[in-house]
Amino acid sequence: MKRSKSYDKNNLLLYLVATPIGNLKEFSPRAIEVVSEADIVAAEDTRNAHDLLARFNIKKELYSLREHNEKEASKHLVSLIQAGKKVVYMSDAGYPGISDPGYLLVQELIANDICVSTISGSSAFINALVASGLETKHFFFYGFLSAKDNEAKEEISNLKALRNTLIFYEAPHRIMRTFALLKEGLGNRKACLARELTKLNEEYIRGTLEELCEIDEETLKGEMVIIVEGNNEEVLIKDEEIKARVAYFTNLGLSQKDAINVVSEEFKINKNYIKKLLF
Ligand code: SAM
Repeated sequence: MKRSKSYDKNNLLLYLVATPIGNLKEFSPRAIEVVSEADIVAAEDTRNAHDLLARFNIKKELYSLREHNEKEASKHLVSLIQAGKKVVYMSDAGYPGISDPGYLLVQELIANDICVSTISGSSAFINALVASGLETKHFFFYGFLSAKDNEAKEEISNLKALRNTLIFYEAPHRIMRTFALLKEGLGNRKACLARELTKLNEEYIRGTLEELCEIDEETLKGEMVIIVEGNNEEVLIKDEEIKARVAYFTNLGLSQKDAINVVSEEFKINKNYIKKLLF
């Protein structure tokens, strides 16, 4: 176990800075302050970071940390912080680590006893979820489905039983394919497409997956999030399926206790019943 006090003066610290998902006014005064005080701004795309900072008259030394060099770049940033430099990290939009680089960096920082803190901002999926009109109490953020249809179908079938609202990111050139795969894999559920969030052309399209499949693709430009209602069918689940589902979550890295909790919530089955099946 490690406890880590972000603002203890003796501790080394890196800030993960959320950047606007569209509207630049969402780059907060605190983000501007922290970035202005940094010696080095590490970024997923240094050109984008340069342009964003230029809008706020900030000029900084930039360092590239992207998906393809994340591990080595993270080690380099650790050495800079250990040498006394103030470093922040930002991805292209929203939060680092959410369908963006950041996870390996955080692991490297923790391994080296460097504190990690965040400068808040928006994340596209939170904006989309809360305004979608679909259940917000329990949700499952999936991010991008595979670009390969067969893999995407399997991913969707693994999500089918979940009672929670499902959230996906998708690129515009794959949006119609993904609507079709979701409808085929999940049935005709309620859904919402949220696009161009916080920008001039922001739009929410609320309906069913079948209706979303009928939209004229030409009208679907820009960045988008798909929100789909969770499974609300009455299902009779076989014991073998329950065991397989627990195994699926433990293979993903959950402890057995957590996997049982998730499956119990998902299938609305008593935890003790699942435990009896397993032990
Ligand atoms: N880190 C980001 C976050 O916290 O939301 C996500 C980055 S991911 C590479 C980019 C995807 O996020 C886009 O393909 C889209 O699905 C979603 N996205 C980002 N900005 C958006 C916006 N303004 N409106 C709708 N979706 C957006």
